Amino acid sequence: MKTAATLGHFNVELVRKDFPILNREVNGKPLVYLDNAATSQTPTQVMNAIVDYYSNYNANIHRGVHSLSQEATDAYELARQKIQAHFNAKHSHEIILTSGTTHGINLVANGFTELLSDQDEILVSALEHHSNIVPWQMLCERTGSKLKVIPMTTSGELDMAAFDELLSSKTKLVFVNHISNALGTVNPIEYIITKSHDFGAAVLVDGAQSCPHIKPDLVKLDVDFFVMSAHKVCGPTGVGILYGKEEWLNKLPPYQGGGEMIAEVTFEKTTYAGLPHKFEAGTPNICGGIAFGAALDYMNNLGFETINAYEQSLLNYATEELSKIDGLVIYGTSEHKAPVISFNIEGIHPYDIGTLLDKMGIAVRTGHHCAQPIMSFFDIAGTVRASFAFYNTKQEVDVLVSGVKKAKMMLS
Ligand SMILES: *Cc1c(COP(=O)(O)O)cnc(C)c1O
Repeated sequence: MKTAATLGHFNVELVRKDFPILNREVNGKPLVYLDNAATSQTPTQVMNAIVDYYSNYNANIHRGVHSLSQEATDAYELARQKIQAHFNAKHSHEIILTSGTTHGINLVANGFTELLSDQDEILVSALEHHSNIVPWQMLCERTGSKLKVIPMTTSGELDMAAFDELLSSKTKLVFVNHISNALGTVNPIEYIITKSHDFGAAVLVDGAQSCPHIKPDLVKLDVDFFVMSAHKVCGPTGVGILYGKEEWLNKLPPYQGGGEMIAEVTFEKTTYAGLPHKFEAGTPNICGGIAFGAALDYMNNLGFETINAYEQSLLNYATEELSKIDGLVIYGTSEHKAPVISFNIEGIHPYDIGTLLDKMGIAVRTGHHCAQPIMSFFDIAGTVRASFAFYNTKQEVDVLVSGVKKAKMMLS
């Protein structure tokens, strides 16, 4: 097994210098930021891109003949091309810039309203984030289609035998996250995509939790739709993508009407712009898109294989050390996991642990993590979730472990 020490080319102390926020104190203690699954921190390189935009070429895009507008348009479209290259999409117009994962899912769910009937079924996994459940329930209410759930096992993995049985010629859509934000489970999306296609169903993958750790190849995956948020990959909030295969995006109607998304407007009839503009009504998050490109540059510069290997070593170490604590239960023990540890200590409410950890400068998430069905499955109110990024250190894991021990002592 590779450990942090043997990853000689990855110098975490050097990397941490790119993240000024990691130097601050919280409650008089050095910040230990372990809430990366909620949002990642922002490196100076990305902040510089934001400052550069507002200092030098802030203007609206795709409209003006003036130079600033052209510069902003060029930078925004260059970001789209970077995103396309990063995800290996066939065309840059298959990359729709959205406000984030939730927006992308709603866009697709809305688009399928006209394509589904009360004879159709939608499969969604038991491991979903609320943002990947509610829009489908709303779609089912509009169309009369049935929502079916791919169940999970006690290790927090999807039950693939049950999935095989749920699939039928009625299945029109399958929605699954690549990695569960609540448990860290890496789902077998390759299998799910291939099998669903055998039945003619389209697949949407929620990549919000996978993109911080791995670099998905969308052409190779052959996925129909893929959504993610920039703020989980060192980018700003309020921007993300919906990737869709060209033939699917052409089939879906526009989501919102407005400027930018039209070819011609008269009061009798409006014709829509082509891809990607058909789905990008109104002034987009221009600076956010450009900064998103800078964030992908930053992460690719470090290299996703390096990032992943280092994070896995942190995960293994933290799992080992936390497991030594008496009465500590880890939820989600699948073989393939992202660096996320969801746990409880018997007899103690997760919120109380989280509050004490915060007093020690340690930021974790407590609660249901927008995944209440998972909590119901385990019959718990919530968990404490520590989620790691490549800028976390082995020493920070030690601080977490001793903090949890201290909290346990104070609360039991
Ligand atoms: C964070 C997250 C979302 C929601 O992302 P937003 O940026 O809030 O739209 C959806 N799915 C998963 C798996 C997530 O981790």
